[in-house]
Amino acid sequence: MTDGMREVSPTAGLPLAWRDLLPSSASLEHNLAAFLSQPETQIECSGTAALVVALATLKRTSHRRSVVIPAYTCPLVAFAVAHCGLKPVLCDTRSNHFDLCPESLATVCGEDTLAVIPTHLGGRVADLAAATAIAKNVGASVVEDAAQSLGASWQGQPVGSIGDMGFYSLGVGKGLTIYGGGVVVARDEDLRRQLRATSAEIAPYRLAWEVRRLLELLGYFALYRPAGLGLAYGLPLRRKLKKGKLIEAVGDDCSPDIPLHRVGAWRKMIGASALERLPAFLDATAAQAMYRKHQLDQISGISVMHDVAGNIGTWPFFQVLMPTQQARDQALAHLWHKGLGIGRLYIHALPDYQYLASMFSNSVTPNARDFAARMLTISNSPWLDEDDFMHICSVLEEQSLLS
Ligand SMILES: *Cc1c(COP(=O)(O)O)cnc(C)c1O
Repeated sequence: MTDGMREVSPTAGLPLAWRDLLPSSASLEHNLAAFLSQPETQIECSGTAALVVALATLKRTSHRRSVVIPAYTCPLVAFAVAHCGLKPVLCDTRSNHFDLCPESLATVCGEDTLAVIPTHLGGRVADLAAATAIAKNVGASVVEDAAQSLGASWQGQPVGSIGDMGFYSLGVGKGLTIYGGGVVVARDEDLRRQLRATSAEIAPYRLAWEVRRLLELLGYFALYRPAGLGLAYGLPLRRKLKKGKLIEAVGDDCSPDIPLHRVGAWRKMIGASALERLPAFLDATAAQAMYRKHQLDQISGISVMHDVAGNIGTWPFFQVLMPTQQARDQALAHLWHKGLGIGRLYIHALPDYQYLASMFSNSVTPNARDFAARMLTISNSPWLDEDDFMHICSVLEEQSLLS
């Protein structure tokens, strides 16, 4: 990249417009419900908080205490389960994939399984048919993790709305953002009433958190552009990479302390205004992704995560699986610090984070570990221009051939 301070965001997030900050009568709950074809949506202060509300609600009417999660997912999911006094149980992923392995899922599900959490990772659509059949067979609920996939669909239905419950993140870097936010939906009317009651009980209004998030959202508005991101994201990233702090570099340094608070009216209004532009933004990024995925598919030795027929995902970034860990690491050594939106999603499979090791000391998840070792991400931000994208392709090709 010629301009030293320019930076491509690692995911294709929807930028805010100044008009989003002006007063309007738009309701985020209502407009999201319309966008998702749901009767109602419920806003929480993060995707993690939305999951906490969902699980705490399920826990109230069941004696079951285990929650099955993929071994390759956001570490906050494990913390959310533990926060509720429930036991996270790992399911290995399919080989060369992030999605739940059906055989592993059938093995870990049982009489104590409260819920299974199929995860639509990075806009890609999970196999809900297999996961739902296995969950239902043991009487467990299905809670879809659609944190990174707002706007994707499974066989014509919005992801998040097919299981008993689903949640989305409105966190920074996840498409539509109010800096910290989450959405929970449920199919059943009675369950929705219970979700509201749980939230009213565990997520009070906290002025200090709201002021902090509002200032962060205004900072996002000001800096979420190529020049601003170099300062806000690129410089700290390069500092962490230089020190070898990879977990910090991707933001995997998660804490078990999960903030729970109401989201204020102004931030919701900003989100509702921005949401009006989301469908066009998703269309534009999908069009770019189709074209670029075709180019990536020409590179021998690598594979790009995609959706099976009937599923239509969103495209915040590409998940690229390199032939070997060495090829992946070499490619990143050339590209990660260059401001091109290249990086990794989660550094490890969950048992390999030191801070989670005690939670998962008996878990063996070789497929998830292999996926974590060979995967890299390429931003699908509109700011990544064609020349830079072609440069990325040539580095991937070279490292794939060398391996
Ligand atoms: C980000 C994320 C979460 C948590 O959402 P937050 O809004 O960051 O709390 C949960 N699951 C997945 C897959 C995520 O990517």
